[in-house]
Amino acid sequence: MKHTVPHTYDLYKKTFLNIVFGKLYFKYFIKKKPAKDRYIILSFDPDETSDMDELPRLLATLKKYGMKCSIAAVGAWIEKYPQHFKRAIREGHEIINHTYSHPDSPQLNPRHYFDLTKAERKKEIAKCHAVAKKVLGIELKGFRTPHFGYQHTEDTYAILEELGYSFCTSTRAIDSPEGKPFRKGTIVEFPLSYCPRHPWALFDSSHAFRGRFLKHSKKDFMKNFEELLDSGVFLNIYLDPQDFDKFDFEELLKIIKKKKIKTKLYRDVLKDYQ
Ligand SMILES: [Zn+2]
Ligand SMILES: [Zn+2]
Repeated sequence: MKHTVPHTYDLYKKTFLNIVFGKLYFKYFIKKKPAKDRYIILSFDPDETSDMDELPRLLATLKKYGMKCSIAAVGAWIEKYPQHFKRAIREGHEIINHTYSHPDSPQLNPRHYFDLTKAERKKEIAKCHAVAKKVLGIELKGFRTPHFGYQHTEDTYAILEELGYSFCTSTRAIDSPEGKPFRKGTIVEFPLSYCPRHPWALFDSSHAFRGRFLKHSKKDFMKNFEELLDSGVFLNIYLDPQDFDKFDFEELLKIIKKKKIKTKLYRDVLKDYQ
């Protein structure tokens, strides 16, 4: 994921907060006692062809550890790489709608999601839905806004309701009540987890390794991951497969296993929040 047009003021404000207060804010205001039976939702956004090329490796690694994930699928990539998505479904993973052309994608569509009209947004979501049904034979029920966060729009929930969707995962934990899932009409929104060092950003490989202002070393990234897992917050993280050469993905799965945390899918936990 790459923010091609950041909202400058918002970006600088959040960067300032992250650098100055991030670590303390997480420790004193966000962290809580972890529940006994913890789980994590792992999601992947293969936005670009470099992400799609890594999908077979991702599926093979998850299989090795007996873990499941949710994949935010771009309709155009379902058409181009049907075999990858078919394999993911066969192996028990969940596919969610990530629009047809991923607005604000250098490879597919330069327009921003928030710049589209509501009708255009609906068309993007409905087209991805139709492609998944035709090519993969599945009815999608969940959605993620391309680049989420600042690109996400409120009217997306109304569109999802109109299209018969059940959930969305397009907000940052810091912008959500206590960072927990919440409802918008009939749609359940699953916010994405914080970076423990920079809670105004997400725990994601994109800011950690490709960020303009906030960066992490590989070692730091793993340490932050352990801290996040031990923090008792709702665990919903997303990673970009193209970053697999920047950190040890398998090591991350080993940490989850060591801490006896289960991996779950959005559809597995949806009922708890409806
Ligand atoms: Zn994306
Ligand atoms: Zn960070």
